[in-house]
Amino acid sequence: MQKKSIYVAYTGGTIGMIENEKTGALENFNFEQLRHHIPELKQLNFTIDSLQFNPPMDSSDMDPEIWKKLAQIIGDNYDNYFGFVILHGTDTMAYTASALSFMLENLSKPVILTGSQLPIGMLRTDGKENLITAIEIAAAKENGLPLVPEVCIFFENDLLRGNRTSKINADNFNAFRSYNYPALAHAGIYIKYD
Ligand code: ASP
Repeated sequence: MQKKSIYVAYTGGTIGMIENEKTGALENFNFEQLRHHIPELKQLNFTIDSLQFNPPMDSSDMDPEIWKKLAQIIGDNYDNYFGFVILHGTDTMAYTASALSFMLENLSKPVILTGSQLPIGMLRTDGKENLITAIEIAAAKENGLPLVPEVCIFFENDLLRGNRTSKINADNFNAFRSYNYPALAHAGIYIKYD
């Protein structure tokens, strides 16, 4: 199996916003700023490479061309990484997860989408937990193989099957549901995989 490296693609959305200390305006981060805001990433025992959409996009602008681009990015990097995390705006995350689950045929590695309700640079952000846990899930293995070899959304506490997920709330951290399929994992003190 490949060395344990995780590939993070940041497409845009709220998770990537950071307050400019001088102007107070919210601006998009670059991944180095993100590492700076989440020093905990250093404690993870594997390498994280990243790619950032330039410019980052609000997920309301997502379309099938971008889904193709994301599938291509995963395809191009497939052999070199253990798992993939896609940072995405929440508004259309469920659509992208669903489309990717059908585009990435015979997938045998994790592709975990996550985002956040509050920007990563804000004190009460949910982005930090969501990102760290999504990366841990993308790196989880059993008998040397990825534990979650499919397209999922991780948000707040639950890992949900990508093509069974809907956004149900714009105000709460607990923003996604899977109405017709149980959660695949629950992240409390431990991440419990079902
Ligand atoms: N409008 C943003 C987006 O979907 C909202 C978010 O990220 O939560 O890109």
